[in-house]
Amino acid sequence: MTHPYDVDVAIIGYGPSGVAAANTLGARGVSFTAFERDRDIYPRARAVTVNDWTMRIFQSFGADEAVKRDMDVMRALRWITYAGEELYRVDFPPSTLGGNARFYTIYQPLMEATLREHAERHTGGSVRYGTEVVGVEQDADGVTVTARDLTTGRTTTTRARYALACDGGSSPTRELLGVQLDGDTLDVTWVVIDTYVKRWWPDRNLLTFWSDRDRPVVDIALARGHHRWEIPLRPEESRADFAAPGQIWPLLKAMGVSEDDVEIHQHAFYKHHLRTADRWRVGRVFLVGDAAHLMPPWAGSGMQSGIRDAFDISWKLTYVLDGRMPDAFLDTYETERRPNVALYTSLSDQLGKIVRLELSEEEMSELTAPPVAGEPAAEPPLIRR
Ligand SMILES: Cc1cc2nc3c(=O)[nH]c(=O)nc-3n(C[C@H](O)[C@H](O)[C@H](O)COP(=O)(O)OP(=O)(O)OC[C@H]3O[C@@H](n4cnc5c(N)ncnc54)[C@H](O)[C@@H]3O)c2cc1C
Repeated sequence: MTHPYDVDVAIIGYGPSGVAAANTLGARGVSFTAFERDRDIYPRARAVTVNDWTMRIFQSFGADEAVKRDMDVMRALRWITYAGEELYRVDFPPSTLGGNARFYTIYQPLMEATLREHAERHTGGSVRYGTEVVGVEQDADGVTVTARDLTTGRTTTTRARYALACDGGSSPTRELLGVQLDGDTLDVTWVVIDTYVKRWWPDRNLLTFWSDRDRPVVDIALARGHHRWEIPLRPEESRADFAAPGQIWPLLKAMGVSEDDVEIHQHAFYKHHLRTADRWRVGRVFLVGDAAHLMPPWAGSGMQSGIRDAFDISWKLTYVLDGRMPDAFLDTYETERRPNVALYTSLSDQLGKIVRLELSEEEMSELTAPPVAGEPAAEPPLIRR
């Protein structure tokens, strides 16, 4: 008798969330096919950091040492004005989760490449690059994914028990399922400038938020000699004003950075979103990562939340697929992950307010008050609910 399923799990989209799901499922012997529209890894450095919890997830499928080779330990964060006043600083304590640092800087394309290589070597799953998912249909027993090979135009169907939509912020699967993406998009365009470092400068590896109402700037050392600046455009400025690399230099020069310090690698524009899908599960299909939620980058948690989603739903799927838990167990995916994502979305929003100097004097003085000797330091206001 022909088995009605081609595979246990179909993974739609193979960015950080998809590859984390593949590794987690594969390490537990679950079969999967991943579909990825692009042939190559998205070339832009987007996420800049991972923490020790994310490293624990990588460790769970044996990829932590390999990804660490392309990471640098992050020392501290500081919020500072152009006049040199340090408003707030977070020095990272050692991790309590084993041998890892608390935070690392990464270079996202390199990290993704290592995770893909790990999945290829250590799982039995397959990945179909250059293949776009164009249909997702389901019934009581499974999901049928229709995909088109973008080179040949050939369309195939794959029958899976469950599917994970890891297809990013504009998730076509979310659209196909009729799921709403609730929330807001902030009306400020940011230019993100990625550079290669030619010569080191003092404190380059301190993640610095230049805090200012008019021109707040994020200044981040990425791993492997990359450096990034993120700068919001003023209301009178447009993307067209900064289309060519030559038009970007005045922004960097205003920060005291010259052609002797860095070479511009690429730049891109983006807006911040605070959005969440109204449902993360539709029958046998689960939304994962940016497909389920989008947040500003201030807490460095967009990609990491997606990796946590992928880990959560994937280990739960293994329990349901081998009969240890009923299908209803999978409902705990959204119950557990949604509040955590909401916390980080709200934290990101508040951290953004420090950079734009939008905290009141009272909030700011609470933030900067030195701890009283003998008493534990007050909880930073930015994580008060
Ligand atoms: C400028 C910028 C800065 C950021 N900074 C940070 C940060 O500091 N920290 C942080 O944690 N996060 C940050 N992020 C967010 C982070 O990059 C994303 O959260 C992360 O990449 C999301 O991973 P994902 O796998 O869910 O989605 P994606 O990375 O978007 O991957 C989705 C994949 O699905 C594929 N796909 C889409 N549709 C289909 C289809 N129909 N068929 C097949 N494949 C499909 C796409 O080609 C893509 O490869 C930033 C994002 C941007 C844009």
